[in-house]
Amino acid sequence: MKIKVLPDDVANKIAAGEVVERPVSVVRELVDNSLDAGSTDIAVYIKQGGRRLIRVVDDGCGMARDDAILAFERFATSKITNSSDLAQIKTFGFRGEALAAIASISRVELLTGNVRVRLEGGRLRSVDDSSTLSGTDISIEHLFFNTPARRKFLSSDRTEVEKIKTFINQISLAHFNVRFRLFVDGEEVINLFRAKAQVERARQLFAGTLCEINQKQITGLVGHPASVTKSKVGFTVLVNGRVVTDRLIQRAVRDGFDSMLKESEQPRGYISLSIPFHEIDVNVHPQKLEVRFVNSNEVFSLVKEAVRGSLKELIGSRPITPKVVVSENVPLYHSTSTVQSEPPSFQSPESLEIPYDRLRYLGQYAKCFLLFEADSGLYLMDMHAAHERINFDHIRNNLNRNAQGVLISEEISCTEEELETLKETAVPGLTINFTGNGVILKSVPACISHLSPKIIIQELLIAMNSDGLFERYKTLEDRVAARLACHKSVRSGDELSKEEAFSLVDTSREVLTRCPHGRPFWVKFSVDQVGRWFGR
Ligand code: ADP
Ligand code: MG
Repeated sequence: MKIKVLPDDVANKIAAGEVVERPVSVVRELVDNSLDAGSTDIAVYIKQGGRRLIRVVDDGCGMARDDAILAFERFATSKITNSSDLAQIKTFGFRGEALAAIASISRVELLTGNVRVRLEGGRLRSVDDSSTLSGTDISIEHLFFNTPARRKFLSSDRTEVEKIKTFINQISLAHFNVRFRLFVDGEEVINLFRAKAQVERARQLFAGTLCEINQKQITGLVGHPASVTKSKVGFTVLVNGRVVTDRLIQRAVRDGFDSMLKESEQPRGYISLSIPFHEIDVNVHPQKLEVRFVNSNEVFSLVKEAVRGSLKELIGSRPITPKVVVSENVPLYHSTSTVQSEPPSFQSPESLEIPYDRLRYLGQYAKCFLLFEADSGLYLMDMHAAHERINFDHIRNNLNRNAQGVLISEEISCTEEELETLKETAVPGLTINFTGNGVILKSVPACISHLSPKIIIQELLIAMNSDGLFERYKTLEDRVAARLACHKSVRSGDELSKEEAFSLVDTSREVLTRCPHGRPFWVKFSVDQVGRWFGR
């Protein structure tokens, strides 16, 4: 086979696949360009979720005639000139590929300076004189018109609009001195006036008790979800003014809360880091959504300590919510590697034969483990893990059956992002009504009707979003069952009678010997093993 260098239009389309995943990616690139051009007023217009039109009008530096044409060439940028510039990128753009990529899969009209440039599918169609415009006005029409496969994967208009709204709210935090407006199908949905300080902008987005973080490299507002009433965006991480999806920092924020947040709760607010440009690499993701830190450990502790410190100031040493019970402190998701680190003296639970009919109950140890003996040895059962397994199987097998109405309809308030996630959820038997600011559960499968609607919704959201669960469970039903199984299971600290202990053992005969998170719930010590401890 002969190797050929791909023509530019094909290369651009390939780049578009990486850069332009959905309408919000276009908005992000265009707004980044407006910010790089020093704009102080940015208006975004969307039609039909961005499929029909995405238009961004700014009051930035604009472009000269030649540049307006060159801007659509691949690797054409005014922002860096040589590779050493890559080591310290201060602008949002630098790859010089966004406009070329976007133009290759849409129809573009650019008005800037005194020129009007039109392109279709990446090909230049016309360059005309126009009346003078300070700033830039760029319209992207019929996005993905020549990439039907990508078009098919778009969500509903509403979902795309939500993503765009979230992005604009988030980026507005980083650029509080810029006015941002968003118009959706002719209606103004965001209008954020220029603020004098980041905190002032943040107050336009969040309300409630938030603690301010104000240090040299790190600023932000952080609050417990229960105390933050209005939140238009999920927790936002900014690094040098860039909105990033950084797990490390999200984790550090969470750790800063210590045990104040339940696994199902998301912190509210934002954190903004200023890191010297040479200490981060932003060139790791085509959409520039990720950054890499040279000293990631340092960044981690910096964020964690900042969050912890500011929360302490607000609430003294008293936690906002009572400390969770021991069994909930056990990390819920174990990767296979941690599960395999069982001490070698344990037999793997699958090969362990439990002599169910010959067990004698000895009692409970540490209010957590049930002790049994048989002639063959000493058996310990983790009662919570066992009960969780039983509940998991029960829920998993019955989730699709017997939906029943919810008697007391209670509204559960959700963030816009949560609402969007819930709209994409389909669990048979679960009917969710959307109220605008929240949801009401109308019917639930009988097997989970003992749980409160709030818990069901919270766990559903985790089941939809948790990477840890995705590793282990492929279907949504499995993930939901794994999350819900934990509730109403006996917990460490519960005292069990002999009858209850045996009832748990009896029911557990039908199920596997690991809990839904992969932990074994039976271990055995033979008389020989115990004997060896004493040198017998
Ligand atoms: P990059 O932003 O990576 O440089 P783009 O393809 O997004 O690449 O843009 C190419 C060039 O077009 C930019 O470097 C900039 O010079 C110019 N440009 C794009 N949008 C604007 C704008 N809104 N105002 C001024 N110049 C712009
Ligand atoms: Mg750009």
